[in-house]
Amino acid sequence: MSQIPETSDIVLIGAGIMSATLGTVLKELEPSLSVTMFETLHDCGQESSQAWNNAGTGHAANCELNYTPQRPDGSADISKALEVNTEFDISRQLWAHLVGKGAIPDPRAFLHPCPHMSFVWGDDNVAFLRQRHREMAAHHCYHGMEFSEDPAQIAAWAPLIIEGREPGQPIAATRIISGADVDYGALTHLLVKQLQAQSGVSVHYKHRVVALARDDGRWLVTVENVATHERTTTSTRFVFAGAGGGSLDILQKSGIPEGNGYAGFPVSGIWLRCDVDEISARHHAKVYGKAAHGSPPMSVPHLDTRIIGGKRSLLFGPYAGFSSKFLKHGSYADLLRSIEPGNLLPMLAVARDDWQLSEYLIGQVLQTSEHQFAALQGFFPKAQREDWQRAVAGQRVQIIKPDPQHTGVLEFGTELVASADKSFVALLGASPGASTAAFIAMEVLQKCFDDRLTPNGWLGRLKQMIPTYGIDLKKDADACRDSRAKTAKVLQLDFV
Ligand SMILES: Cc1cc2nc3c(=O)[nH]c(=O)nc-3n(C[C@H](O)[C@H](O)[C@H](O)COP(=O)(O)OP(=O)(O)OC[C@H]3O[C@@H](n4cnc5c(N)ncnc54)[C@H](O)[C@@H]3O)c2cc1C
Repeated sequence: MSQIPETSDIVLIGAGIMSATLGTVLKELEPSLSVTMFETLHDCGQESSQAWNNAGTGHAANCELNYTPQRPDGSADISKALEVNTEFDISRQLWAHLVGKGAIPDPRAFLHPCPHMSFVWGDDNVAFLRQRHREMAAHHCYHGMEFSEDPAQIAAWAPLIIEGREPGQPIAATRIISGADVDYGALTHLLVKQLQAQSGVSVHYKHRVVALARDDGRWLVTVENVATHERTTTSTRFVFAGAGGGSLDILQKSGIPEGNGYAGFPVSGIWLRCDVDEISARHHAKVYGKAAHGSPPMSVPHLDTRIIGGKRSLLFGPYAGFSSKFLKHGSYADLLRSIEPGNLLPMLAVARDDWQLSEYLIGQVLQTSEHQFAALQGFFPKAQREDWQRAVAGQRVQIIKPDPQHTGVLEFGTELVASADKSFVALLGASPGASTAAFIAMEVLQKCFDDRLTPNGWLGRLKQMIPTYGIDLKKDADACRDSRAKTAKVLQLDFV
């Protein structure tokens, strides 16, 4: 293992998709930067970014109904969906750039075309999906989205969700064929590998960041070797806490006033997984349903094609649960340890106001495996119990944010909390997630490196990497279509 450098320009805490992406972007913009990455575990991409710990959806808000809430008049509000949809374009452009220059040799190593579908049953849900499709298909971002209420058509798209279904049941589906299944664990490995091949980059596994201190405009980052408990301190100009569920702890350790009052609420997940080739060969889609009342947005049930390590499997879930750990490899004391005088009131306010979530989680935890299997059969009526096994998903830590009006609010998105002097930023939250890693990297640039985003600075290189940087793809239909056509070609995705 390489020596920990005494100083570096950038320290990345955590070796998941977020640090790997930000490190990649920064080195593309300024190859002379020295970058040091610390990771507690033995390898990169082992927590939420690991393939089986997440659903691998290239979230473009094509099919996830939680991004298109129904308005009181029955129409769908697609504004959030459009945001997520075009954030995914930034990831596509970054990946296409890296494939184009050979830094990622083969897109098939992490990315596969996979239609994205929404599927609902019941008259009200069918009416909503019809209306949602009308509004989305009219927008250039959702060009090519199909809709059907015809069981024969839906069976042609995804036979398993129709076979064995009660005849006459009102059903509807939308489909968009340009979706993707992404192995974010494989992508993290590819990104870290090409980073390690560059000069000035060092990656230190089995090293946990245990302390942060200010030192004359720099940060002193202390890491502990998890095997020997030996501690080393390194100095840096800039710290990115991309530690997933560990980011709140890092934010608290930084002591920056901007982090006061933040807390976290962990949500765990269980999948049902099927590795039987004859079954997985008959399902080629990510089929998202409607979330149960009160459920957090990331608990929308879905039946997914997964392609991991060249093998095709099916995944259903997640069933949400409660565990006090902030990371899958974390400690049951994580939640308790995160409580400080400054975040107690926001936490209590959320416990008081968000009873729907508590009720939902309690319901999920109490679900028996029969209930869980029945939920799968709602999507796949002929599913056989012996073909499916339970698998533990990654942890997500939802943000509890200080809020002057309500004392504290629970947020399901992601948030970058930066120090006023732009030398530290922590990424909290988990949704939409890995799909928007490149967009998050752009946000870090804007928050912390805005002085370099000039024509004489990084802007030229940035536009080579992200050609639509600065263009609103929600509004510019030509740029949107052009970008998608080009990235689809390089990334071997379908294009409509
Ligand atoms: C059930 C589930 C389903 C999901 N589905 C999707 C999906 O379909 N599509 C999508 O885009 N996203 C999805 N996500 C979200 C996505 O997985 C995460 O947003 C993303 O992986 C987070 O990446 P990260 O790099 O921030 O964190 P992680 O991958 O968790 O990496 C953080 C790393 O930091 C390390 N670390 C923590 N503390 C320290 C410390 N003190 N010192 C050193 N290292 C430390 C950890 O060991 C870990 O390796 C899902 C998540 C879950 C849990």
